[in-house]
Amino acid sequence: MDHKLRVLVRLDVDRTAAVLAVNGCLTETNYFALLPIARRAHSLIRGLSVTVDLTGARHIDANSIDLLERALTAVPAHTAPSDAFRVQIPAALPECPALFYSSQVEEVAA
Ligand SMILES: [Zn+2]
Repeated sequence: MDHKLRVLVRLDVDRTAAVLAVNGCLTETNYFALLPIARRAHSLIRGLSVTVDLTGARHIDANSIDLLERALTAVPAHTAPSDAFRVQIPAALPECPALFYSSQVEEVAA
C-alpha cells in the first residue's frame, strides 16, 4: 500500500511561528521524514515555534503520533527549547482511504 506523506510549510509573516501542515498519510514508517523539515524550520529564525498540524492529514497511524512527539522532543536542549515543537492532533484519527478502496475492490471481485 502506498502511503504518501505530503507537507506544506507555512511561515507567519511576523516570523514567530511555522506550521507544517500534513495532508497525506502519517505512518510509523514515514513520520521521520517530518523531523528534518521541523528542525530546519526551527533553525530558520531564533525562537521560532513549530507546529506539526495533523488536523488535515488523510490518514494517521496512532503509533506514529507518539513516535513523532518523542523524536521532536529528543532534540538536544542546546539546539531547541522543549516547547519549540508542538503537534496538533485531530479529535479522531482518520483511517487510510486506500484501505477503504482496496476493501471495495475485494468485495466487487468476490
Ligand atoms: Zn495511508
